[in-house]
Amino acid sequence: MSQQSIQSTADADQHSQPLVEVTDLKKHYGDGGRFSGPPVKAVDGVNFEIQEGETLGLVGESGSGKTTLGRTLIQLETATEGTVSFDGRDITKLTGSDLKQWRKNAQIVFQDPDSSLNDRMTIGEIVREPLDAHDWNSPAERRDRVKELLSSVGLQADHYYRYPHQFSGGQRQRIGIARALALEPEFMVLDEPVSALDASVQAKILNLLEDLQDEFGLTYLFIAHDLSVVRHICDRVAVMYLGKIMEIGETEELYADAKNPYTRSLLSAIPRPDPTIDRNRITLPGAPPSPRNPPAGCQFSTRCPAKIRPEAYADIDDDTWSRIEQFREVVRERTRDQMGVRDRVKRRLGTFSKYDDIEEAADDLFADVDLPAGITDTVDTAIEAVKDGRPTEAHDALTREFGGVCDTERPDMHQVSDAGRLSYCHRHDSEYDSVADTLADRSHE
Ligand code: ADP
Ligand code: MG
Repeated sequence: MSQQSIQSTADADQHSQPLVEVTDLKKHYGDGGRFSGPPVKAVDGVNFEIQEGETLGLVGESGSGKTTLGRTLIQLETATEGTVSFDGRDITKLTGSDLKQWRKNAQIVFQDPDSSLNDRMTIGEIVREPLDAHDWNSPAERRDRVKELLSSVGLQADHYYRYPHQFSGGQRQRIGIARALALEPEFMVLDEPVSALDASVQAKILNLLEDLQDEFGLTYLFIAHDLSVVRHICDRVAVMYLGKIMEIGETEELYADAKNPYTRSLLSAIPRPDPTIDRNRITLPGAPPSPRNPPAGCQFSTRCPAKIRPEAYADIDDDTWSRIEQFREVVRERTRDQMGVRDRVKRRLGTFSKYDDIEEAADDLFADVDLPAGITDTVDTAIEAVKDGRPTEAHDALTREFGGVCDTERPDMHQVSDAGRLSYCHRHDSEYDSVADTLADRSHE
C-alpha cells in the first residue's frame, strides 16, 4: 500500500467506521466430505455494515440463512469465507483466549425461550453463568449484578431463586435478555426474539429491547421471518433469500417503495392491510429451492414474478409462460435426486420408475393449453431425457430454449435510491424494464 492510500484510509476511518463490517461472508455446511453431496450454502456471499447504536433488521423466509448469518457474525459458527470486522478488527480468525475475551462484546438472544433456558438451574444461576465463565469480579458482586440485571429487564430480584418453568414465555425471554446483557456487550443478535410470543407480549418485549438499547448504547441485528415485526424497531432492513441479501436499506423507504421483486413479494404477503405500503398482490409459487442446489442464475429466479423472458418469447401469454416455468422447475427438482445404486440396478432390470411421473406433471400443466409446435417439441425432448434418467440434460435443454439472463447469470447489487439502498436484481440493469413497470402490468389481471 502506498503512503497516500494509507493516509486516505486513516482519514475515512475518522469519519464513520461502522461497528460491524461484513465482507463476502460465506457459511457452507458439510463441505468437503467425499460422500456428503454438495454443501449446504446457508450464507453465500453477503456484504453489509452496521453502525454503532443502529438496529439492522434481517428478514426472510424460514431456511434463508438468517440464524446462520447471525451466529457466524458472533463466531458461534466459523466462517467458510470472508471477513467480519468489529471496530476494524477481523474476528473470524480469533482463537483461544483472544476469542473468549472478544465474545463478551457480542451476545445472542434465542428464538425459543422454552428450549434456550436450562430448566434445572435457577434464574440467578442462568443469568450469572456468563459472569462465572469470565471470572467476573467476586461472587458477591456477581449476585448483586444479577439482581440489577433482573430489574433492568422488568423482573424482580427475588426471582433469583426460582426456576424457568415458573415463568411465562415473555418472562423467560426477559431472562434470556438479562443473561445476554450480563457482560455488557456492545452488540446483540436478536434471533426472532418475539416470534414465539403472543402479540400483546411481543409489544412489551420490543419496548424493553428499545429501552435497553437507549440505556446501554447497544447495536442490534434483529432477525424476523416477516416484515411486519421489524418495521418499528429497525433503522435499516436487509432482506435475505437463499443465503443472499436481496435488498438492504432504510426501513421506511424500503417499505414505501421496495425495488426488489422478492421484497415486494414479502410485503404483499403481510396479512394486515396497510395503506402506506405500495403493493400489487403477488403470490409466490412454490417453496424456496434447497440451499444445497441453488439456481445457477439469480437465487430467486425460480419463483420470481418479474423474471426476464428471452426475447423470442416476449409475446407469449402469461398463463402459458407460467406453465412452462413450472415445468422447468419440476425438471430442475429432478436434477437434485442422485440416482442411488439400487435405482441403477432397477433401471437395468427395467423396473425403475423414479422419473416416470414427469409425464404426469407435463399432462397436468399442458393438457388444456395449445402449445406452439416448437415448444411442444422442446417439452417432449425434455420428458424423454428425464424418463431416460438424464434430468440434467433435460434441464439444460430447457434452459437453452426458455432461459433468460435471470436463469444463467448472478445479478449485481445496484444502488436504487439516493439514500444508498441496494438491490440484487437484473431488472435494475438499464437494458431491461424496471421492476415497477413489470409488476404493475401483471397486477391488472
Ligand atoms: P433461517 O434462520 O433463515 O430459518 P438457518 O440459518 O437456520 O435459516 O438455515 C439455513 C439453511 O442452512 C437451512 O437449509 C438449514 O437446513 C441449513 N443448516 C442450518 N444449520 C445447519 C447445520 N448445522 N448443518 C447443516 N445445515 C444447516
Ligand atoms: Mg432461524
